[in-house]
Amino acid sequence: MTAKKILLLPGDGIGTEVTAELRKVIDWFQTTQRTNFDLSEDLIGGASYDVHGTPLTAAAIAKAKSADAVILACVGGPKWDKVPFAVRPEAGLLSIRKEMGLFANLRPAVVFDVLAGASTLKADLVAGLNIMIVRELLGGVYFGEPRGIETLPNGERRGFNTQSYTTSEIHRVAHVAFELARKRGNKVHSVEKANVMESGILWREEVIKLQQSTYKDVELLHMYADNCAMQLVRNPKQFDVIVTDNLFGDVLSDLASMLTGSLGMLPSASLGAKEASGRQAALYEPIHGSAPDIAGKGVANPLALILSYAMMLRYSFDMTANADLLESAVQNVLAAGVRTRDIVEAGQTPVSTIAMGDAVLKELARLAA
Ligand code: NAD
Repeated sequence: MTAKKILLLPGDGIGTEVTAELRKVIDWFQTTQRTNFDLSEDLIGGASYDVHGTPLTAAAIAKAKSADAVILACVGGPKWDKVPFAVRPEAGLLSIRKEMGLFANLRPAVVFDVLAGASTLKADLVAGLNIMIVRELLGGVYFGEPRGIETLPNGERRGFNTQSYTTSEIHRVAHVAFELARKRGNKVHSVEKANVMESGILWREEVIKLQQSTYKDVELLHMYADNCAMQLVRNPKQFDVIVTDNLFGDVLSDLASMLTGSLGMLPSASLGAKEASGRQAALYEPIHGSAPDIAGKGVANPLALILSYAMMLRYSFDMTANADLLESAVQNVLAAGVRTRDIVEAGQTPVSTIAMGDAVLKELARLAA
């Protein structure tokens, strides 16, 4: 079998620091022959702009498109604040998502029991929490036409956007949600505002149709987006998989991420359509940015990126044992009180980025022995 191709994009700020720790983890899986990946690395964001004058070169796009999975750390920083909008580091991010056709954004909100105290909610409400939010990423009101700002005959200005979804756009993201649910708790909450929006009515009808035709074994529930926001803070453990549109997903996934306490712990995945060969474009990245306030200080938490790698093992390559091993190693390291600054608790001394990477490696070796 040919080796699966993985493209690593460290990006900017703390990106290079956390990627160095991920590299160690990747190398451990390679040298212990648990994986056989063909790895390459390229520039994105400000790092690419500095060298090539663009945040993402055509060559990097081609590499990303031909890779079996892409791992991206983060982009951006004050150094590029005055750079023209079209070539800002963040433009590289939007461009890679679009070029790879990534329409489903998977944002897990997982609370490791030992970190339940870091949540702003009561520990018993969030301990053991494991939600997956599937957000539609390429449609809806962020892309719908017509859009714009116009001046009305009476001199008033009017801003407008269009919320729009087609059946195929709804089906492809709902497919992802149902498939994920089958690998998890077998339950999907479909979230919209069918009470006030036609696009929400269509969304609900089409999700029901798909479930009836293909996923009768998966439990399907419906919830209005405003109620979902309330339920996420009232009783978050009622959810398994939530599937929703671009706008509601943007808000609800940020809300859900805060249930877990720290930005430095949260991975994400963005997926494209499954080809006939079974291959599916996939980009894995932490939800955090380049953290300019701590970049270069060696204190960033590398776990969100390391957990993004675990997601890749699980979802792109069905390497469940490897993903479980890595997630267990992270969990044990946290339970032993090894914490970077962002997740440190009273009485603990924070460790560096490198020390956190080393602790994960040591635990991997111990678990595998
Ligand atoms: P940010 O996520 O970079 O930082 C927010 C706060 O969280 C900061 O205090 C930071 O120190 C902390 N933090 C983030 N990641 C951490 C980690 N791994 N370990 C410890 N602490 C961590 O968000 P921001 O400050 O709003 O944005 C900074 C830059 O990143 C901007 O240029 C922004 O455009 C960019 N950004 C990029 C992405 C991405 O690459 N996907 C996402 C968000 C923001």
